[in-house]
Amino acid sequence: MTDGFKVGYPQALLYYKYFPLWETFFNRLGVEVVLSGPTNKALLNLGTVEAENELCLPVKVFYGHLLALADKVDAIFIPRMVSVEKSAYTCPKFMGLPDMARATETRLPPIMDPTINWKLGWRQYVKTIIELGSQFTDNKAKILGAYHAGVQSLHQYQDKIRAGATPIDIIESKEAPRAGVADLRIGLAGHPYNIYDKYISMNLIKRLREMGTDVVTAEMIPHSELEKESQTLPKHLFWTFEREVVGTVFHWSRRNSVDGIIYVLAFPCGPDSLIQSLLEHEMRRERSTVPMMSLVIDEHSAEGGFLTRIEAFVDMLSRKKKLAGRVAN
Ligand code: SF4
Repeated sequence: MTDGFKVGYPQALLYYKYFPLWETFFNRLGVEVVLSGPTNKALLNLGTVEAENELCLPVKVFYGHLLALADKVDAIFIPRMVSVEKSAYTCPKFMGLPDMARATETRLPPIMDPTINWKLGWRQYVKTIIELGSQFTDNKAKILGAYHAGVQSLHQYQDKIRAGATPIDIIESKEAPRAGVADLRIGLAGHPYNIYDKYISMNLIKRLREMGTDVVTAEMIPHSELEKESQTLPKHLFWTFEREVVGTVFHWSRRNSVDGIIYVLAFPCGPDSLIQSLLEHEMRRERSTVPMMSLVIDEHSAEGGFLTRIEAFVDMLSRKKKLAGRVAN
């Protein structure tokens, strides 16, 4: 089945987290992976027309990527992401993605939707991987070898991010800017699909760098640190990716390791709006001196207003830092 077989991979949602794993896995099994390409206006419009109006922006974007792959591939890979760790779940949208895709009015190629559910333990996970790979070979050792190679690719990708590159730098094969040379350090919090998608984030990382700031993100912090920080909440958060946002913001604010935090959230995201209020409350309670600005993005976000807010925030951080320097001298 592998001869010339093409699997489509939507360049949206968890693409920024797991793409190297799945690309290597499929390639090792002789399958070509076709990406939908970066988000642009046409893709967003496609997705917005196809998706239910109440859905969040990242899922609308996902629909656009899905439709872009419709007539280019033999199958589309949309794992049903239920849980990526034993103690928590992902957002319900990730669990329903394959069903939402099948319900589109556009005719799509078959959907490959392995269920990723770490709550069922590693034995079930291995079974899922073997089932997925069995569509291309009967050789179990080859399937497990392909998966192992995929995990190594993912670790290399994560190592590069921890060393200061963003997924965008890696995807575009660009050198990451040297850290620590800018006057200001900004922590960019939020889901990877909101902050690394250049179109929907209006190129936020590049703009911040052009304003002379160092940009750091959650993926640059060891995962164990994020876990430790988020566990200080009185109640366990059962959404994995929201826990990461909380851990990230706590990590920066409690160490004063950034000059300011920009939290990018999508409209209308239930988990994000809850986390936003929680973070504001906790930072006030802890008397954090790190300013945090929330930026809500949706399909109607206007570049002018967005830019003005970022410039004003960076300007305020810069004046605050200068003032603190004068007081200290
Ligand atoms: S966490 Fe929010 S933004 Fe992400 S898929 Fe779920 S609802 Fe959408």
